[in-house]
Amino acid sequence: MATETLPTPATIGNTHPTKVYKNFIDGEWVESSMGETFEDRNPADTRDVVGIFQKSGKADVDAAVDAAKRAFARWRLVPAPRRAELVFKAAEILIERKEECARDMTREMGKVLAETRGDVQEAIDCAYYMAGEGRRMFGPTVPSELPNKFAMAVRQPIGICGMITPWNFPMAIPSWKLLPAIVCGNTCVIKPAQDTPLSTFHLVRALADAGVPHGVINIVTGFGPDVGTPLAEHSDVRAISLTGSSAVGRIVGQTAAKSFKHCSLELGGKNPMIVLDDANLDLAIEGGLWGGFGTTGQRCTATSRIIVQKGVYSEFIERYVERAKKLKVGNGLDETVEMGPAINERQLATDLSYVDIAKNEGAKLVCGGNRLTESKYQYGFFMEPTVFIDVDPQMRIAQEEVFGPVVAIIPCDDLEDAIGIANGIEYGLSSALYTKDVNRAFSAIRDLDAGITYINAPTIGAEVHLPFGGTKATGNGHREGGIGAIDFYTEWKSVYVDYSDKLQKAQIDRGE
Ligand code: NAD
Repeated sequence: MATETLPTPATIGNTHPTKVYKNFIDGEWVESSMGETFEDRNPADTRDVVGIFQKSGKADVDAAVDAAKRAFARWRLVPAPRRAELVFKAAEILIERKEECARDMTREMGKVLAETRGDVQEAIDCAYYMAGEGRRMFGPTVPSELPNKFAMAVRQPIGICGMITPWNFPMAIPSWKLLPAIVCGNTCVIKPAQDTPLSTFHLVRALADAGVPHGVINIVTGFGPDVGTPLAEHSDVRAISLTGSSAVGRIVGQTAAKSFKHCSLELGGKNPMIVLDDANLDLAIEGGLWGGFGTTGQRCTATSRIIVQKGVYSEFIERYVERAKKLKVGNGLDETVEMGPAINERQLATDLSYVDIAKNEGAKLVCGGNRLTESKYQYGFFMEPTVFIDVDPQMRIAQEEVFGPVVAIIPCDDLEDAIGIANGIEYGLSSALYTKDVNRAFSAIRDLDAGITYINAPTIGAEVHLPFGGTKATGNGHREGGIGAIDFYTEWKSVYVDYSDKLQKAQIDRGE
């Protein structure tokens, strides 16, 4: 994959030479047509250049789509179980490379090693699950209303699928898209986030090494408007799948609609965790810390709002803040670190700007709120774990996605009040409730307006074989993971076989 070697950067902890990575089009590693590149830098230590990547444009997207189009003619005819065997093999390859992939991911994305190992594991889990789907891809076989007639529906691939992915799960999210798509017989062009292309390269390389044929998967790196837009606009691309912000989702959705593409949008969240008076507080505090500050709060499912019933409000805050203050922040390659940096300068600036917004709105800052400036943090984008209390549900800090280590704690009277607060936002991705009362748990499962509800667990931790996605501004009704992904990457064809040897008219020849 790497074809050129640049001088080693003067970086503590980086002993590897910086590699230049190329686009992967039709089974070849090729430079961008513009001949330009960009750097992928470590957000924990910006002196560390993780890789040099191609800055691509429309011509590169066109070449990748052409390759995918040629490959589709052959790939769609490969039996699904055979296609799936290659995905299974890629899982085995990823297991061998798990540690290397995780370390590279921590370097380019910043989250701690335990979490990047989890990210790679999620791709492995997805590969095993989707490999199994190659032998299922079930469709309905139903009785015909006419004699001597057979009726069923089969799943067919859509064609060329374009994928645009974010930086926070740089291998898992591409796997949720690429793996079901190719098992279903589609071919793909993927544009990974410009902050984290290397992890997507590792996934694509595993698939190529497993024997996925040329042109079935193509990767084009670069920036959203340069690569994502031409991909969403391309007339030969029949499906677009984006995971990203709601703002970009709106643009991509409108672009895709112009040519009636299938379009799956997985967007933002502002996820509530409700803690009732009867909750196991130890568990709720542990969960709220993991959900709020895991991945530096940069998960679409991050526990960014904690809604606490008044009977345990003071105790919860006191114990939660005490723990949050002790979280060890630093370079995720250090196994003792609990929270890494923000992904980039812009995201850090956004996080800090929300501290000011919340203060100005009257929320009470009880933990953090500052950029970390000690010498060990000087080359990274580090911020203190930050907690606001006494937050009003209508404040911007309670309504808008920050995507950083900033948690808003909101008091509530009872479950009904909590559910009203939880649902009173534009998003609907994940939600959680801590209680020991089964009746209230099931009421919440029914009433929380979100794509995911956890009971006695925080808002993060999805597994690959259940649908993943959300309601309202979190998406457009599709789901990734599980059977939802197979639904997105296939089209139904209903098949009628009449073996009566005569013309039978449906709805008319009723034998009456
Ligand atoms: P982003 O929207 O800025 O970028 C996502 C991708 O879209 C990137 O690859 C980017 O280059 C591309 N892009 C940007 N502008 C584009 C344009 N005009 N046309 C086409 N493509 C364009 O998001 P991000 O900062 O990478 O990720 C954070 C966001 O992603 C958060 O809002 C988070 O909630 C969301 N997210 C959602 C899920 C989910 O499944 N619901 C999962 C992870 C992240």
